[in-house]
Amino acid sequence: MIDSARLGLPDLEPGHVWLVGAGPGDPGLLSALALHALAQADSIVYDALVDSRILRLARPEARLDYAGKRGGRPSPSQPDISARIVRVAREGFRVLRLKGGDPCVFGRGAEEALALAAAGIPFRIVPGITAGIGGLAYAGIPVTHRDINSAVTFVTGHNSTGAVPDGLDWAAIARGAPVLVLYMALKHLATIVERLVAGGRRRDEPTAVVSKASTPEQRVLVSTLGEVAAASAAVETPAIVVVGEVVRLRGGLDWLGARDGRRLDPDPLGRRDCR
Ligand code: SAH
Repeated sequence: MIDSARLGLPDLEPGHVWLVGAGPGDPGLLSALALHALAQADSIVYDALVDSRILRLARPEARLDYAGKRGGRPSPSQPDISARIVRVAREGFRVLRLKGGDPCVFGRGAEEALALAAAGIPFRIVPGITAGIGGLAYAGIPVTHRDINSAVTFVTGHNSTGAVPDGLDWAAIARGAPVLVLYMALKHLATIVERLVAGGRRRDEPTAVVSKASTPEQRVLVSTLGEVAAASAAVETPAIVVVGEVVRLRGGLDWLGARDGRRLDPDPLGRRDCR
């Protein structure tokens, strides 16, 4: 149990809502505020991506409410979810709205917070570790490296109807940053790859897919931009895709693999001779 008084953490008060990021999976990546909220909440409204090990940290008396949105299955609409949270808060419960990763990264956290603001419900946003950064770290892939990139682009491969976002200027995205991190991109990966290649990305660029990052079922596929769509056909979701030379660093930074005996290459970029 965390010492909330020593950490100076505020309490989750009756009638208030905390919109909390649960991180990509590993309970160890929860923030102190997230743990505190789990210890106090009367009502927890959670999404499909929240790890079951995290839900087990709830108080036994807490009411757990699944508000998952999953393609292909009947799922509550966003207005329904927002209305449900408002209703539970108005009933005077301490409400924890728990979302995978960070609530405001492709997670509709802002939409729900605006609904709370409109209803006059006091709320707090507790950031979480997003899959596109923390999930990649569990695969030994840093989103930046001084010698590789000074910018990184986060992109979603889905719009609200589930199609490839057409409003995006894919050519500009292709040119914009040496590293691209793609959320929700598996379904339309072949189309996305073609748009990136048409925009000037090399087919031989290192590309990785990290599935179920930071969970015991984590799998990492290392491929190239040209081959990743075919290679990832059997990869399970959720998965994050990363395009760029930072993928090579996994050879030296796969700390999880090293625990299982994999040898790490201290010079994964092959620069020893250039110095
Ligand atoms: N708010 C979340 C993202 C929600 S969108 C965050 O900040 O991480 C859902 C997408 O996130 C998935 O399609 C996948 O691309 C990514 N994702 C979430 N959790 C993941 C995990 N444990 N491993 C790999 N990808 C994950």
